[in-house]
Amino acid sequence: MKELFYKNYLLDTLPGEQWIDAYGYDGLYEVSSLGRVKSCEKFIDHSYNGGYYRKAKILHQYIIKAHTNLGQNRLGIGFCVQRVVRKFQVSNIVYYSFHPEDYGKEGVVMHISKNTLDDRLVNLKFVSQGESFKIDILLNKRKDFRTLQNIRIAKLKLRTHKVCNACGKKKVIDEFYHNWMCCKQCKSERKYKSSNK
Ligand SMILES: [Zn+2]
Repeated sequence: MKELFYKNYLLDTLPGEQWIDAYGYDGLYEVSSLGRVKSCEKFIDHSYNGGYYRKAKILHQYIIKAHTNLGQNRLGIGFCVQRVVRKFQVSNIVYYSFHPEDYGKEGVVMHISKNTLDDRLVNLKFVSQGESFKIDILLNKRKDFRTLQNIRIAKLKLRTHKVCNACGKKKVIDEFYHNWMCCKQCKSERKYKSSNK
């Protein structure tokens, strides 16, 4: 596996690294082609004593835990402008900063290697949601829900008996109307309606 750069806090530009203004944050934050993010040098104005320059620094990225066991952890970053913090997935802010033409289009930024902590630009690709899902299935990262559902339906179709929820008897499937859980006999006798007891 390639080295991950997001924990490298060295301010120097690394070999092969290219910096660009973060999309929507020109002059405030920059992202790099290796997936690093930095705040730019900024003049902090204190009218009473003249103010000072705050040095540029590489920002600390945090792990966004996956919500489900099908998801994967990702890296996040917070941008603070005039005390308002906005949080982003690093993969998104890196990709859209280098490819602003894709911003707002329907789709997702995908990690080509499926290592979701590798936010190098070469590992990021803009794809439709469906395409990303298909690739996940091919790489066995997700279970195909449609397949699981088909198995469940197939199993239901293979049932030979159902238990009537009115008389409680186990009867062959032919004694039920399609999608009914009470038998034809009970249905004709209207036993399924508790009000008719
Ligand atoms: Zn019945």
